[in-house]
Amino acid sequence: MLDPTIAVRLIMNDSGNDKYLLTPGPLTTSLATKRAMLRDWGSRDAEFIAITRRIQDRLLAIAGVENSHVAVPVQGSGTFGVEATLGTLIAPGQRTLVLENGAYGRRIVTILERIGREVTALSWPEDQQVDPTALDAALREDPSLEHVIVVHCETTTGILNDMVTIGRVTKAHKRRLIIDGMSAFGAIPIDGASVPFDALIASSNKCFEGVPGMAFALIARQWLELAGGNAHSLALDLYEQWRGLEANGQWRFTPPTHVLAAFDQALQEHREEGGVAARHRRYSANRDILVQGMRELGFETLLADGVQAPIIVTFLMPAHPCFEFTRFYDDLSARGFVIYPGKLALADSFRIGCIGALGASEMQAAVAAVKATLEAMGIDDLAARASNPTDQTSSLNRTGT
Ligand SMILES: *Cc1c(COP(=O)(O)O)cnc(C)c1O
Repeated sequence: MLDPTIAVRLIMNDSGNDKYLLTPGPLTTSLATKRAMLRDWGSRDAEFIAITRRIQDRLLAIAGVENSHVAVPVQGSGTFGVEATLGTLIAPGQRTLVLENGAYGRRIVTILERIGREVTALSWPEDQQVDPTALDAALREDPSLEHVIVVHCETTTGILNDMVTIGRVTKAHKRRLIIDGMSAFGAIPIDGASVPFDALIASSNKCFEGVPGMAFALIARQWLELAGGNAHSLALDLYEQWRGLEANGQWRFTPPTHVLAAFDQALQEHREEGGVAARHRRYSANRDILVQGMRELGFETLLADGVQAPIIVTFLMPAHPCFEFTRFYDDLSARGFVIYPGKLALADSFRIGCIGALGASEMQAAVAAVKATLEAMGIDDLAARASNPTDQTSSLNRTGT
């Protein structure tokens, strides 16, 4: 159930004729978040320094790691944050195990290779969760693997990985755990008590509903303190970035001031909505409306309901002879809804996101736009050609977290 005050805010989310972004980011943001950017800040001004500090404190509190970790922001998109974190924390010569079930896990492997770090990958098909028993066996067999990296929600498909078990197994073997929480943190509960992570990486523009331009990592202070001199890069050295911010509150290089102002506002709205739990509820309701509506129109989801995160949903490309994806995409866009092409090795697909400053009415409108688009393509019944009689049409189970 959507809180009525949130519904009012959501109605105010677009300024003018913006399309709704049903994508993995950038996303639809609230009007107040956009408005927060209508000022120019001096990067050395006390007011701006306070904004940076407030954001750092808030992020640590959301993950419940105020006493053990530090929040280090970095300019750029999420990938800049991933590369900066890996290069800073993993010393040359140390070995890392990547648990991979999608494109973002593969990107982590690529980054480690590119920056000259030793990497071993365990891989799963994109529609299956990472298996913690394989992790357990790998760490048991190879004591030289010092770090484990995993993606919380693989945005490639929208699959959720079991962070609690992965955290428990990693710590039972006394290894470091780095989480790419880019598309999960802020909407899928995770905290230092239930998942003992050493670093968690995310960005301003996904579940926090800020604008793009800033990534950050929450890093165990004791680990970061040891990380001086590791980094492969000057600009992506989070140790130096942290030392600079600690010394005088200032970023080493020009900060994305407007992005921070918008993020500060977005974090305030996150808190007012009711924090992670409330955002999880809203996104879950968005997903349920989307999945149920799309199934009624004859579409099939790639993932089983039990592993589908309330972030982004992958739909299989329909086999109907009249269905043409480019036209589908363009028509939906003309109707005000931007979706996302698939990124799968596994199957031809497309994705529709459920995150951003969107609620039930926007998701219902999106499903109605899909229906109208199918009609315009001359498709009465997409499922008429369905060869699979066990088509899932049951209502969606909530994904456990
Ligand atoms: C979005 C995302 C990233 C970073 O992507 P950018 O395009 O660089 O912002 C990294 N990992 C995951 C899981 C993501 O969803």
